[in-house]
Amino acid sequence: MDVLEKLNNIFGEDFVSNRPEELYVYSRDMTENPPSTPDYVVMPESVEQVQEVVKLANQLKIPITPYVAGSNVGGLTIPYEHGIVLDFKRMKKVIEIDRENMYIVVEPGFTFGHLRKLLDEELTEFEYSFPFAPPYSSVTANALLHGLGSLSHKYGSMNEYINGLEVVLATGELLRVGSCAISPFWNMRSPLPDLMGLFIGFQGTTGIVTKCGVSLWPKPPFQAHCMIFSTDPADIYHSLIFKLCRSQICQEIGGGLLNTAIAEGILPMEKLEGLISMMGFTPKYEGLYFANLCTLWGCSQDALRAKYKFLVKLVNETNDKEDANLVLLRPEEYGEMGKEMMTPINLPVQIPGLLKEGGLTWVGSYVPLSRWLEGCLRGIEIHKKYDRVPGVLHRPMKYGHYGVQRFLIPFNKSSEQDIQDVTAMCKELVEMILDIGGMPYKMPNWVAKIMMDRADPHFFQLLKTIKHTLDPNGILNPGKLGID
Ligand SMILES: Cc1cc2nc3c(=O)[nH]c(=O)nc-3n(C[C@H](O)[C@H](O)[C@H](O)COP(=O)(O)OP(=O)(O)OC[C@H]3O[C@@H](n4cnc5c(N)ncnc54)[C@H](O)[C@@H]3O)c2cc1C
Repeated sequence: MDVLEKLNNIFGEDFVSNRPEELYVYSRDMTENPPSTPDYVVMPESVEQVQEVVKLANQLKIPITPYVAGSNVGGLTIPYEHGIVLDFKRMKKVIEIDRENMYIVVEPGFTFGHLRKLLDEELTEFEYSFPFAPPYSSVTANALLHGLGSLSHKYGSMNEYINGLEVVLATGELLRVGSCAISPFWNMRSPLPDLMGLFIGFQGTTGIVTKCGVSLWPKPPFQAHCMIFSTDPADIYHSLIFKLCRSQICQEIGGGLLNTAIAEGILPMEKLEGLISMMGFTPKYEGLYFANLCTLWGCSQDALRAKYKFLVKLVNETNDKEDANLVLLRPEEYGEMGKEMMTPINLPVQIPGLLKEGGLTWVGSYVPLSRWLEGCLRGIEIHKKYDRVPGVLHRPMKYGHYGVQRFLIPFNKSSEQDIQDVTAMCKELVEMILDIGGMPYKMPNWVAKIMMDRADPHFFQLLKTIKHTLDPNGILNPGKLGID
């Protein structure tokens, strides 16, 4: 029996393909990372099917790449060594909801769109951290990749929300980590040795996750989404951001230095530009405005009002003492911009605007907050060198213990020259981020190689040992994380 027949036996013919037009979709993503075509794509419906295909692949030494939406913006699902792509879109069930202990257990194909519906219709007392990512991307993949979202200012990156995983190992055996390894509850990682780390950040190279338990958070009864605009990122990053983080009055702080093209679908930038110029302010960097969302939260209206008063005081003090040009808008003042202002918070749909020329890439990173401004200014210079307009996103994480610095780079995917320029520019941005003590996240293989060159050699050796121990035949998403 050949491989195709064996796959048909496991999945049924409707859920196996080796047709070029279907494989094409899995051979590339929106980034500049080069394409590579798989030999087969399969769509499992059950854990048993995942176990069977992994056993088969391990026996025949065929590479396997787990995939949900391929929206990681880093070439992480491009199957560089071909083989089988395992597309999880059919495994999208909610396995368990535990209201009392505030968690859900979901399959990898469960997306942020599904989660929005669940929270809006059924679990209205809870919230989760929503990324600016498309609604069709996976909650599990996002958490496994150290994602960042609308609650990250308060609770950190999304890997910290994972309480338990069910994983198919390269042998096809099924393993549980977290409290669910011993208890019927999927509510905690303490006090066991934290084996979750064997699968988080590994980009599917050590095991294939079939269930993921994540924390939900109680929704504060009162919230207000204020916006602070400035014409210069230094106005915010000189001192305001540090005071704001330490005050802990916000559950979300985030936004970025945006231009009209990048902000399309994210914020009503043209209207905001008009508003700011009416006030007589001119941007320090032509066409760029620093937009910053601050979501205040409270258990009562009084608590919210007190926090708002404190925010106004901080902004006024910064304007007076530091000669800043900050503009603070309350939700009541959004006027006709209101709906658009809320889109990035509720469920982002910005992808069409960013993908106008077919290509989108980024250098996304976590940096020490104390170096964010330096990274931003050096990043602007690098963009100037390549004659590109920068878009720099920010978010102080975990009340400011670290921060997001993400350079968003739309490009023309049909222009070889554009691809070359973007590749060279991303490399300079990555080196710059590492120089300021930051670390690129969701790193493509080429970025991981640069990072591992700088890493403590024993760290890299341990990483390779873990990978080779868990996957001795090298079948799980090979060619990733700088590990050969
Ligand atoms: C415009 C835009 C904005 C974005 N903004 C954000 C943002 O604000 N915050 C953020 O965190 N992300 C953001 N993202 C990135 C991305 O959408 C998320 O990281 C996303 O959740 C990844 O989900 P996916 O379904 O696309 O995963 P995929 O790209 O399909 O997979 C991601 C990785 O997980 C692995 N994987 C997939 N399934 C499994 C499995 N079952 N077991 C083990 N490994 C698996 C894959 O092999 C791959 O390495 C953005 C993306 C875009 C396009």
